[in-house]
Amino acid sequence: MLVAKNTVVRFSYQLKDQAGELLEATDEGKPVAYLHGHNGLMPALEAEFEGKAAGDSFSATLAPVDAFGERDDSAVHRVPAKHLQGAEPGQKQWKPGMVALLETEEGKRQVTVVKVGKFMVTVDVNHPLSGKTVTFEIGIEDVREATAEEIQHGHAHGEGGHHH
Ligand code: ZN
Repeated sequence: MLVAKNTVVRFSYQLKDQAGELLEATDEGKPVAYLHGHNGLMPALEAEFEGKAAGDSFSATLAPVDAFGERDDSAVHRVPAKHLQGAEPGQKQWKPGMVALLETEEGKRQVTVVKVGKFMVTVDVNHPLSGKTVTFEIGIEDVREATAEEIQHGHAHGEGGHHH
């Protein structure tokens, strides 16, 4: 079966920057799944899957605008330290370069700590990978027909997909 609208694709990936450094990867034997044709992935990446089959591997290099966005130098804000959430519950100590979650009106957002004051912390709300051209190395594990329920929900269920 080929990747087309309303198929569920399971794949593993490695994400690298232009220097070839590994930024992110699926764990061995833990592919992720998405429902093709429902904006489950970055559109430019999803387009690369079209027509491919299980066992295919390919790499896709995406410009920042197609990946994690351009950097916005105005997207640096001072926020109360108590609005930040760290890797450990109740984290109070912040250092520049740490990644934290910031509670915003649109939900939680990943931010990078720039400067630390007594009560206020300066954070950069750009995605940590914004401004980077990145390469995805993809291995397609399997392709199957989506269920009616998956199409209705707009995402993949089961292994590597959403669990309700
Ligand atoms: Zn669902």
